[in-house]
Order: sequence, then structure tokens, then C-alpha cells
Amino acid sequence: MSEAIATVVVVFTKQCPGCRTVRGSLCQSCRIRLVGDSQVFIGFDAGPVSGTALAYYDDFAQRVILAAKNGGRTDVLRDLGILLTDILFTPSRSGEHPAVVSWIPASRSGRRARGYDPGRLLARSVGRELNHMHLEVGVDLPVKVRPLFTRGGGCRQTGRSRRQRLDGPDLRWLGSDPIARLILVDDVVTTGSSMRSAVSLAVRHGAVSVDAVALASVR
Ligand SMILES: [Zn+2]
Repeated sequence: MSEAIATVVVVFTKQCPGCRTVRGSLCQSCRIRLVGDSQVFIGFDAGPVSGTALAYYDDFAQRVILAAKNGGRTDVLRDLGILLTDILFTPSRSGEHPAVVSWIPASRSGRRARGYDPGRLLARSVGRELNHMHLEVGVDLPVKVRPLFTRGGGCRQTGRSRRQRLDGPDLRWLGSDPIARLILVDDVVTTGSSMRSAVSLAVRHGAVSVDAVALASVR
């Protein structure tokens, strides 16, 4: 009987994916360790677009992000989204156009395998947190979270060659209303090709400013 109870505890107790000792989502010291002293500049291979990531995709960041992306830890994704909000420089101010948060969609096969789209959960967390921030400073400018991109081909970035990755996913624009300010969220940036195609699509469809943020960038 006591053995059965112990098993139940093991199955249902989630641990911090960073240190694997503290119960719950990403613990405070692992958050600090992940973010480090400075943000990571995402330099894209071509084009004028740049962005910011929380960390380099080194061992520690990889452990945390893979747990969140592939290990079903949607609680960790939500917390990582809040950390992303910290590196977004300026929330919208009164008089500005409200920002739209969107994400680079996972491939259909990736979504099916995981049961969720990590980018979508990150974007929702960023949107929710930005709205909290606006409420705190008394700005009545709701941030919306919208799917603006869809994949044409449906091929996964994982497992593709660097050349194929540089070509990026075949993204198409889903937006209907013009977007003034886009906050683009992604999990891991490898070559920046996905972000680059998403940003150029958004700019072509009228986006005036784009903040591109990611959890981690490959060195
Ligand atoms: Zn921890």
C-alpha cells in the first residue's frame, strides 16, 4: 500500500527541469542561471533583422528548453514566456498601436508528436504578461496574441541540413488586419532563417516595428 502511494508521488511531482531538485516549474536560481548577466544578440545570416534571446543554447539552456518543448512541461513554457517579456524593451504606450504577439508555428508533425505548439504557448504567456504590465502602468492597450503565420510545406527544421535550414520553413501570412507592432516569439534560433522569413512577411504586410525574441540562440 505504501509502495503504491510512493509511486503516485513520483509520477505527479514535477521538478525544476534545470536543477531537478526543486519541486515545481523553473526555480528562481535556475531562472537566474538561464538568463545570465546579459541577453544574447541574435545575428541573422543575412538581412537587417536582429533579435534578442535569453541565452545561448548551451547544455543548461538545452536541458530546460527540451524539457519544456518535448517533455510536456507546459508550465515551464509559461514561465519562460514571462522571462521573454522581461527582455522586450518597451511595452506599448498610450497613443501607439497595440502590439500583436505571434509565433513561428511548429510543423504539423511536431505539433502532433508533442500535443502542443511550444511557440503558441510562449506567445500566449508573453501576451498575458504584457497585458499585466500595461494594467500596472495604467495603459489601456490590450496586446493581442494572433496566429499570423502558417507553414506551407510542413517540413520540420529538426533533422534538416544546415543548407536546408538556411532556406527556412515555407511560411505564409495568415494575418488579415494590418499589424503596426509585431512581437515575434520563437523557442530556439539556429540560423535565424525562420525568423527572417517571418519578419519579412510581416514587414511586407505592413508591420512597422518588429521585436524578435527567442528563448535561446545557437552559438
Ligand atoms: Zn532549479
